[in-house]
Amino acid sequence: MSGPLRVAVVGSGPAGFYAAGALLDADIPVEVDMIERLPTPWGLVRLGVAPDHPKLKTVSRAFERIASKPGFRFFGNVEVARDLSPGDLTRLYDAVVYAFGAQTDRRLGIPGEDLPGSWSATEFVAWYNGHPDFQELEFDLDVERAVVIGNGNVALDVARMLALTPEELAPTDTTDPAIDAIGRSTIKDIVVVGRRGPAQASWTTQELKELGELAGADIVVDPAELELDPVSEASLEDDTNSKRNMDVLRDFAAREPTGKPVTVRLRFLTSPVAIHGERRVESVELVRNKLEEQEGRLVAVPTSERETLECGLVFRSVGYRGVGLPELPFDERRGTIRNEGGRVVAADGTHVASTYCAGWIKRGPTGIIGTNKKDATETVAQLLADVEEGRLSHRDEVTAEEVDAVLAERGVRPVIYASWTSIDELERAAGEKVGRPRVKLRTWDELLDAAERVAAETA
Ligand code: NAP
Repeated sequence: MSGPLRVAVVGSGPAGFYAAGALLDADIPVEVDMIERLPTPWGLVRLGVAPDHPKLKTVSRAFERIASKPGFRFFGNVEVARDLSPGDLTRLYDAVVYAFGAQTDRRLGIPGEDLPGSWSATEFVAWYNGHPDFQELEFDLDVERAVVIGNGNVALDVARMLALTPEELAPTDTTDPAIDAIGRSTIKDIVVVGRRGPAQASWTTQELKELGELAGADIVVDPAELELDPVSEASLEDDTNSKRNMDVLRDFAAREPTGKPVTVRLRFLTSPVAIHGERRVESVELVRNKLEEQEGRLVAVPTSERETLECGLVFRSVGYRGVGLPELPFDERRGTIRNEGGRVVAADGTHVASTYCAGWIKRGPTGIIGTNKKDATETVAQLLADVEEGRLSHRDEVTAEEVDAVLAERGVRPVIYASWTSIDELERAAGEKVGRPRVKLRTWDELLDAAERVAAETA
């Protein structure tokens, strides 16, 4: 190879950074341009991880180390499909790794889902975390009861955030409007509803435990709901996470409420069938489920038992969903780019040359941050094997200058890494004054203005 292999990584969340890190650590010379739609990097580490989980966010230090490696460039505010097509990327780079995550949420598909007051958890999470696309949303938390649908970690994040006291929120990087709205909230009852049983919940034990440690909320679980059918009981044998979850739930069920102002209730074997209300959410209609084994999996099957639960808010937290890009093979059912171990494959099963994927858009929206390291490493190993075996090589016409020229020609103004570090410093400095890790810039204008100032100073 006459020059370094030039790779575009699309997306700057954990999968994108771990892919960039593995590429820059390869035994052959590699240069990485990371292309990101937002002006800021880190994906869900900045905009998804709950603000009261600062420890989880420290993984960004590893991303900073990767960004400081020679050969790394960051292009924020550059959107694939709008500014550069996948075809452009294939022409401008020797290889492309798509790692843009899962951009939307799964739907419940029930009447009333779009009534005002029925939100997807992803909207709420993006709003309280300062995602610039979601700052116009107005969450009216002036209701008595909120119902959270789903038994994953995002549902727990939403339930916990709604229940945090002003004192618990104060030292976090939750946005000011969210701190204000949650602080003034009149919610007294938060009901988390799972369609299957407690042994099938997908939350992790640490996150579950935290629900029992809130300053302003009691946790309530009905012991009768923890009685397991024999198949669920047996499944605990080889599932340590579920086994530990059951121990925590039994501890919760044994507690007496202590009179805290808010109650978080966990309910199981219950699905929403409709959301009712005249102009906004007034109640959710629930059906009792039973578990049935189908193709080796316990699934929720509705019974005839129904109830109506009055509530003013519904948060649908039933998983994220990947969205494809034009020109890239997409598996609609799974919501992922069609791939084999990270090599993108066309409908006829052949590999799409020089095109790879990593993270949620490769495997679906599962796993914790660290899962993306193994995932991205697998993808990069495939890419490097393709180099080794002569299927992929550097082309002389592929240069950093050509990328800059194309972006300039199209009037795209990327946010470069130096601009991001200055945004980062600004936010941290503002946070330091008020005892918070950072005060986030929240709108496109604020972020782009801050980025432009640095670009002007360094030009
Ligand atoms: P998830 O773990 O896949 O949970 C989705 C939940 O929605 C499941 O309980 C699922 O039930 C339920 N569900 C799906 N369709 C439904 C329907 N039609 N009606 C009722 N319930 C339905 O997804 P997530 O909570 O969005 O989290 C995404 C990933 O991020 C997970 O891997 C999670 O662990 C991770 N995460 C981690 C943290 C952390 O480590 N602190 C925080 C947030 C997110 P079934 O099981 O029956 O399908």
